[in-house]
Order: sequence, then structure tokens, then C-alpha cells
Amino acid sequence: MNLENQLNNILNEVIQWRHQIHSRPELAFEEYETSKFIQQKLQEWEIPYDFPLAGTGIVAKLEVNNPKRRLAFRTEMDALPIQEMSQKPYRSIYEGKMHACGHDGHLAALLGSVKIINELYKNNLLKNSIYFIFQPAEENEGGAKRMIEEGFTTRYNFDAIYAIHNWPELPQGIFGLKSGPIMASYDRFLIRFFFERCTCCNASSRNGYNLCCFFVYPKCIFLCFEDESSPRKGDFFYINPCWNNL
Ligand SMILES: [Zn+2]
Repeated sequence: MNLENQLNNILNEVIQWRHQIHSRPELAFEEYETSKFIQQKLQEWEIPYDFPLAGTGIVAKLEVNNPKRRLAFRTEMDALPIQEMSQKPYRSIYEGKMHACGHDGHLAALLGSVKIINELYKNNLLKNSIYFIFQPAEENEGGAKRMIEEGFTTRYNFDAIYAIHNWPELPQGIFGLKSGPIMASYDRFLIRFFFERCTCCNASSRNGYNLCCFFVYPKCIFLCFEDESSPRKGDFFYINPCWNNL
């Protein structure tokens, strides 16, 4: 069985899946159509799977007797609340939703892997049990967290889970690897500012807004008030930090 031939044989099909998924983007925890599309493929290939995990998630299973290891490959399914401006024939058909993070590509690639590894499985060439994880809500909405809360880690007890994320800055054909944590989630924070006295500095007046200076060693964060009213003693403000003059 020649893997390179296998890959070339399904390449056009994988591209077609990518375009199909791209045209029908769904936001976090709403990946119903996407999940259905994946399940139809798994049923077509007669691959057993668990569903649902965290609402729309799926784990497909190619299990062998006495596996040396239990390995998993994982992709995400969700898109972003972004309006697609492209005129490509496979552009998003949904207003204000777009696969702008590349999860359509990850999904199509993983489905391609499922199809090829299933051929190895059917020919008794697998020594490890292989699982394919389709995770909802990667875009900072906590899909993985919800799967774990539902018992994902104890239920499967994988020896390793592999995942990729596209990185358009890298040239085609180059993989980026790094030891230690990578692609960590960002976090949101809210600063609640309780006012005693406005201590405006001269350099920080912009568009008539009152700007206050808040020193956090070693950098200075200028905090911009949301409205133009002058702060009074005792006022609460929800403030957007903007990094200025750093
Ligand atoms: Zn992403």
C-alpha cells in the first residue's frame, strides 16, 4: 500500500470537502451541519463513532485488538463571527460567519486521514488503535473544557493526542514544531477602576476624552474612558486598556 499514491488519489476530494465546509461556517457549539457532514462520511465508511461530545463533538474509532498504543488526532469544527468579503465560488453562504481561522482546512485534512487510515485498518495493517476527535468551539468558547468536564479524558485514556493549526506565515510544506506549550488561548480581562481623583497627564488627552495614566511595572497602560463625561469621585468605570507609547 503506497501512502503517497493514496494521498494523491484523495486530494481532489479533500479539497472539495474543504470548500463545502468553508461555504457553510457555523459558530462555536452550533456546528450542527458540520457535525452531520462528518457523521455522514463516517457512516459511509462504516467507521464507529461516539456522538455527541460537548453538543456537536464526535470521536471516531478504529480500534484493534491488543493495541500497542491508543493514539488520537484532533481537529476543531467552529468558525468565526466575521463577514467574508471573498468572491470565491465557495465563499460563506451565511451572513457574518466565516471559516477565517482555517478550521475548514483542518477538518478536511483530518477527514482525509480518516479515509486513508481506515484503509490500513481494513487491511489489518494497524498496530495501534487510532481515534479522530472532532472538537466543537475552539475559538475561545471552551469546547475542549466542556468535553473534559463530560469525562472525555477518563473515558478514552489516550496515550497521545496530535493536532495541528495552520500558520500562514510559514512557507508551504514547512511544519513548525516547538517543545513546551504553544498556541495557548488568549484570555479576556476587565479592569474596574474606582475613582478617587482624576490624575490626567498632559500627554494623554485625545479627542476630548479624559485619559488616565495607570502604571503597571514595567510598562505604562493608558486607560481610555468609554465616554466623554468627566469622572467624579466614587464613579465606577469599565475601561478598555489600550497600549500606548510602549
Ligand atoms: Zn483556530
